Amino acid sequence: MFDNLSDKLDRAFKVLKGHGSITEINVAETVKEVRKALLDADVNYKTAKAFTDTVKEKALGMNVLTSVSPGQLMVKVVNDELVELMGGNVSELDIKQNPSIILIAGLNGAGKTTFTGKLANYLKTQKGKKPFLVAADVYRPAAIDQLKVLSEQIGVPVYTDYESKDPVKIAEAGIAKAKADGNTVVIIDTAGRLAIDEQMMNEIADVKAATKPHEILFVVDSMTGQDAVNTAKAFNDRLDFTGVVLTKLDGDTRGGAALSIKSVVNKPIKFIGTGEKMDAIDVFYPDRMASRILG
Ligand code: GDP
Repeated sequence: MFDNLSDKLDRAFKVLKGHGSITEINVAETVKEVRKALLDADVNYKTAKAFTDTVKEKALGMNVLTSVSPGQLMVKVVNDELVELMGGNVSELDIKQNPSIILIAGLNGAGKTTFTGKLANYLKTQKGKKPFLVAADVYRPAAIDQLKVLSEQIGVPVYTDYESKDPVKIAEAGIAKAKADGNTVVIIDTAGRLAIDEQMMNEIADVKAATKPHEILFVVDSMTGQDAVNTAKAFNDRLDFTGVVLTKLDGDTRGGAALSIKSVVNKPIKFIGTGEKMDAIDVFYPDRMASRILG
């Protein structure tokens, strides 16, 4: 994960090797390399600039207060700022209500349906919940079939209605069934499109208005870099979602989405997807991710 970024940051810190102290000059040279590494990882320009400006200021400010080597000091400053950039603390899912309603949104192919299954499996096996799935993608019968297969695989019930073309009615009927059967979390998988589309946004907004979800999770493919960030912005402007799910972090992704999304939409990344299997889901910990990036 993020191997290229890790290598480039490592090289940036080497600029300070052999220097006895942090100076304006060697810090400027290091942060320039750090900025290049971030831009190469597809972090957006404004985020990368703000990040390195803060790192520079903090490194120069801390210099007199510490006895560690300039390289170690810089690694610590960059680590702390990476944690902040990715949201600081872990952001818990709001699942206190009975039932808690979770709406899943995102473009086609992002990994929505797969994540819907993974989340249900996680809530069942790790959180002792009784999840219930609702297949509200009225455009792709294959998506409904896919959710059915996953539901059988993880042993979680699913509500489907192949006849209806009304996602609001499906969602409402699904929630009613979930409540009647005593389930504690309802996860609604919605329809996506290949690109952002007004009708899709209207539909999800209608489902939101009708179901009043406690969580709206925006699922996005981390491999799409800056596009992921732009798509997140468009969905958030319309839906005011509560959290981001970054999928496909097991692939050869550069890291830009993970590093930029929080600063652009100001919503936390809550989960990551690390594979196609039902257990390939992790809660997103900004500090662990920063440590992984810095190796
Ligand atoms: P949807 O159209 O948003 O519902 O996307 P799907 O859930 O159908 O996922 C699209 C493809 O991405 C499928 O082939 C999934 O198996 C795959 N996929 C989803 N999440 C991950 C992940 O975290 N890692 C990898 N490697 N593949 C994933």
